[in-house]
Amino acid sequence: MEIKKGIGVSPGVVISTAIVIDAEDLVIPKRNITPDAIPHEIERLSRAIDATIVDLQKLRDDVTNQHGKEIGGIFDFHIGILRDKLLRNQIVAEIEKNHATAEYASSVVMRRYANKFLAMTDRVLSERVKDIHDIEKGLLRSLIGQKHQDLAHLTQDVIVIAHDLLPSQTAALDRSHVKGFATDAGGRTSHTAIVARAMGIPAVVGLGNITSEVSGGDQVIIDGTRGMVIVNPDEDQLTEHREYEKKQLQLESDLATLRDLPAQTLDGHAVSLQANIEFPGEIDDAVIRGAQGIGLYRTEFLYLAADHEPDEEEHYAAYAEALERLQGKPLVIRTLDLGADKYTQEKAQNPERNPFLGDRSIRMCLHDIPMFKRQLRAIMRSSVLGDVRIMFPMISTLMELRQAKMVLNDVIEELEEDGIPFRRDIPIGIMIEVPSAALMANNFAKEVNFFSIGTNDLIQYTLAVDRTNERVAGLFCPAHPAVLALIRDVIRAGARNSVSVSVCGEMAGEPLYTLLLLGLGLTTFSMNGPDIPEVKKIIRSVTTEHARNVARKVMSFDSERQVMHFLREETRKIIPEAF
Ligand code: PEP
Ligand code: MG
Repeated sequence: MEIKKGIGVSPGVVISTAIVIDAEDLVIPKRNITPDAIPHEIERLSRAIDATIVDLQKLRDDVTNQHGKEIGGIFDFHIGILRDKLLRNQIVAEIEKNHATAEYASSVVMRRYANKFLAMTDRVLSERVKDIHDIEKGLLRSLIGQKHQDLAHLTQDVIVIAHDLLPSQTAALDRSHVKGFATDAGGRTSHTAIVARAMGIPAVVGLGNITSEVSGGDQVIIDGTRGMVIVNPDEDQLTEHREYEKKQLQLESDLATLRDLPAQTLDGHAVSLQANIEFPGEIDDAVIRGAQGIGLYRTEFLYLAADHEPDEEEHYAAYAEALERLQGKPLVIRTLDLGADKYTQEKAQNPERNPFLGDRSIRMCLHDIPMFKRQLRAIMRSSVLGDVRIMFPMISTLMELRQAKMVLNDVIEELEEDGIPFRRDIPIGIMIEVPSAALMANNFAKEVNFFSIGTNDLIQYTLAVDRTNERVAGLFCPAHPAVLALIRDVIRAGARNSVSVSVCGEMAGEPLYTLLLLGLGLTTFSMNGPDIPEVKKIIRSVTTEHARNVARKVMSFDSERQVMHFLREETRKIIPEAF
């Protein structure tokens, strides 16, 4: 009955029975051993470390096979920590000195480790504390002999409700029975969210206290697309969601027929449908769904998934892999967009009061030129391997753009001096996601080759609504007339200056807005791969003139409610199964 709003991190709708996982905090009692038991405890420790490594290797290999090595690589970090002799020696010392059990000694030392990570100045490293807890639990489970209860051996379909899921727990979920999950904690960029997306399990996180509101056995609807969870739905809600689920399945099955058909309107006007990715491993699936290229590669995930800042070679390897998979299709590489919601403020060394208005994204890069250069050098080197384009995020002033281009020019000069080949005519674009850039699109258009409108941030900054705060989620709306006016003006400025314009925020993949964006003259849509078929279907079912008329009418409204109501009606007329 009750609808809970959270952050949809992996799309899709599923209705099933809940199983609630406890916070699973293993409490290890302090128990002393006699001196003659010390060798036995050390032996137990060694066996447990080895067993945990074997489990992790298996998990890593399974995950790598299924989802690619970027996701699987998360567990290399876990394995590396367990293999660390220093860690083992510290636990042994704890056993010998304090006559502690292997469990208690492990717990003490791992917590010490966690605190060390927490105190690290490198934000990305300090985020890894969660992984340390994960390793600790794996080790303790081996020691206690308690295997993953679990979620790997289910006999019926379930929806997992948990306070938070560790990366290894998410990756180990039995895909054939776990139909979705919802958590109290978490954000869009947590490892858990990354893994859920890669597995294609509908998921909603950041729900606050879902674990206390659901009991095992309750019926639950997870709507990962719209970011909501309904606990014990009534008949109407069930019917609505069953219908929606069915339509989604129907749309999915249209996929095969749509994939090779051009994304063009009934009167032959072609648009480009591209995909957003976090990892190169997502490319194949996006292409299967009809992506004509990658319109947004969120490279900050390279930093988030690694245990260190990626060096030039790691950047290069990722870009080379992406280009290899794309076979000549375009790849828009967005430079590092870290900060704000992309790492947890509590864990940052110097937490900012207003991180979304703080040192994030291009600002962070311009404050750390050597790091910025490493990425730009790798991008330029990869430019000879395919159709690479560079995009700078969160540009808010012309000065910022010029500075970023100056750094790029330095990199180009250095590559020339080193005799390293690169493509000179590589297109340079910017994200338009701050109102100042949208309002000055005409000026920016003189200095770039393309624009990509990041509606996620543009809406947040235009409407003063934190995009991750569930308390104001109702105010976060792409249909707000002020947002639409900015989008319209950016598309116009692009057309006037022959600068191509795409939308790469979530709005581009929402069928509700396809007619409108098309009617405003948008030529490139970049979205999550699974959204492509439905958007393509709408585009193929309408004429340009019809879309223009829809857009004209929408732009005459002064409230988001009118806009959404009208667009829903118009879209339903074209494809009744759309909503
Ligand atoms: C956006 O802001 O719309 C966007 C596409 O970028 P991100 O969601 O990564 O901030
Ligand atoms: Mg953004």
